[in-house]
Amino acid sequence: MWILLMSAETLKITEIFYSLQGETSTVGLPTVFVRLTGCPLRCVYCDTEYAFYGGKRMALDDIVDEVRSLGAPWVTITGGEPLAQKNALPLMRRLCDEGFNVSLETSGSLDISEVDSRVTVILDLKTPASGEVARNLYANLEHIKREDEIKFVLNDRQDYDWARMKIDEYRLFEKVRNVLFSPTFGNLSPTDLADWIVADRLPVRLQLQLHKILWNDEPGR
Ligand code: SF4
Repeated sequence: MWILLMSAETLKITEIFYSLQGETSTVGLPTVFVRLTGCPLRCVYCDTEYAFYGGKRMALDDIVDEVRSLGAPWVTITGGEPLAQKNALPLMRRLCDEGFNVSLETSGSLDISEVDSRVTVILDLKTPASGEVARNLYANLEHIKREDEIKFVLNDRQDYDWARMKIDEYRLFEKVRNVLFSPTFGNLSPTDLADWIVADRLPVRLQLQLHKILWNDEPGR
C-alpha cells in the first residue's frame, strides 16, 4: 500500500528551471518550466530528445516546493509529453491551487479532457513534415477553451497550406484567440513564413522561439 501511494504521488522529471517564456502569448515573461520525462512521439525536428529517457523521480510535494522557491508567477508544464504521466494532472491542479498561472505544452496526441480548467493548454497539431501527423487526436478540439492556444510547427510550404486547411476544417479561429505558427529552426525561413502570413492576411501569431535566439536552446535556459 505504501509503495502504491508513493508511486501515485511522483513524477519523472528531467529538469525544473527559471527562464523567460520563449513562445506563446506570454513570450518574454519570467516563467518556471517543469520538464517531464518521456514522450511517445518522435517528431523529426524534436529539440528535446534529452527528455525522452532518464529523469529523476520526484514527489509532487517536492516539485511544488521547488517551483515555489524559484519565485515566478508563471509555470509551464512541458516535456517530452507531460500527459504521458498521469500524475501531471494532480500536479497542475496543485499548482493552480497555489495561485500560479499554469500552462501545459502538449503534443496534441493525448487526451486533454481531464486537464484542470484553470490551465492554459498549448495544443500542438502535428503537421505532415513532423512525421507524426497520424498521432493528432482531433477529439481534443472539443475540449479546447477560448484562452487556450493551438500551435503549428511548420517545416515547409506544404505544412503551411496544410495548417490553413485544418484551421478552416476545424474553425480554429472561432475556438481560440491565439493560433501560433512557428517555423522549424534552421529549416523554414521565418521571413518566408512572415511573408506568407502577411500575403494571406492570416490572423495567426508568428513566433520565433525567443529561448533559441537568446541561448541557442541550451537545456535549462
Ligand atoms: S511531441 Fe514534442 S517532445 Fe515529443 S517528439 Fe515531438 S517535439 Fe519532441
